[in-house]
Amino acid sequence: MSYWPRRKTLQVAIDDVSIGSENPLVIQSMTDTDTADVKATVQQVKELVAAGSEIVRITVNNEEAAKSVTDIKARLIDDGIAVPLVGDFHYNGHLLLDQYPACATALSKYRINPGNVGSKHRDTNFQKIIEIAISNNIPVRIGVNWGSLDQRLLARAMDRNANRSEPKKSENVVIDTMVESALRSAELAEEIGLSNDMIVLSAKVSAAPELVGVYQKLAARCHYPLHLGLTEAGLGLKGIISTSAAVSPLLIQGIGDTLRVSLTPLPKGARTEEVLVARQILQSLQIRNFEPQVTSCPGCGRTSSTLFQEMALEIQDYIRENMLFWGRKYPGVEEMTVAVMGCVVNGPGESKHANLGISLPGNTEDPKAPVYVNGKHHSTLTGVELVNDFKQIIETYIMTTYKRRPDENL
Ligand code: SF4
Repeated sequence: MSYWPRRKTLQVAIDDVSIGSENPLVIQSMTDTDTADVKATVQQVKELVAAGSEIVRITVNNEEAAKSVTDIKARLIDDGIAVPLVGDFHYNGHLLLDQYPACATALSKYRINPGNVGSKHRDTNFQKIIEIAISNNIPVRIGVNWGSLDQRLLARAMDRNANRSEPKKSENVVIDTMVESALRSAELAEEIGLSNDMIVLSAKVSAAPELVGVYQKLAARCHYPLHLGLTEAGLGLKGIISTSAAVSPLLIQGIGDTLRVSLTPLPKGARTEEVLVARQILQSLQIRNFEPQVTSCPGCGRTSSTLFQEMALEIQDYIRENMLFWGRKYPGVEEMTVAVMGCVVNGPGESKHANLGISLPGNTEDPKAPVYVNGKHHSTLTGVELVNDFKQIIETYIMTTYKRRPDENL
């Protein structure tokens, strides 16, 4: 159950994964392989799914990519991966979906950008894609992006704004036009015959304040589920923090039904980082729980060694490694909290807020580490086996607290 009440939205089924307020907020990701390279794309989809992605988008930008979609889908199914695949279309989507019907049916959702459906016959091309979606019973994400906003709409809005007695700032006109573009396209899709529960909207920008503004406006004017994300968030720490800063104010208002974190991977960096960041954002806001959380203090002059930092890391790694097993066997374990603290000043207090907590001795303290379980003093650990002893306490806690799933095969 989410800590923050969700805005009520329609439910859109993407195969077995539903997006909408009655369902958990869905994590999705996008590959950066050449879709025509089936082997590399299958491998990356598998990695993204293993990291926790529940929907994966692949670009379908040319005939080779369109031809490869069925192979990618088949290989994933052969390997037991039934993740919904979303096709990302720009400019030639109407042609590819028409010429490659097997691609059109293998995909579980189409993503189209109304600003990028071809400039001359924009409305006809848009109509063609929607008609194919209707005939295949495939939902559509109408994804507006401020980098590729429909220039006709924007020019008209700018002209109207220039004639106002008090013109708005141009960035506000862009935001308003993005909202109009998304809503008009959805309206048009419904007029063509696409059911309203087959539409997801997004309106992505790359700056946090504008993202909050555009999604608040969109949320106030429709009941379509919203795909949330800061586009082109950037590299590493900057991308992670910018995304967190941008989407969190919306998530706590209940806005957003599916999340994608658009990080630029570092050279040779893992694509899966975007999935881990998305999970951590949702878990930090107590929207969804994926794995037990380890709380640790920052350390200070009272910390006598790096033991507590090493221990916090070791405990976190230990939990992550074992969650593959615990997560399947002990439902509810993902809500467990563990505190690893550097001394007894704040340690016992913080430990009492966690399910399990340990406070390592500070530099002037007795070499003892009190352990708390569910707020009560459990034991005091000493000696070189202290970390292993604490791991044993964690394991015993899990086995005695969470009801084991009655499945012999687990
Ligand atoms: S718990 Fe102790 S070691 Fe950690 S920051 Fe606080 S005073 Fe410093």
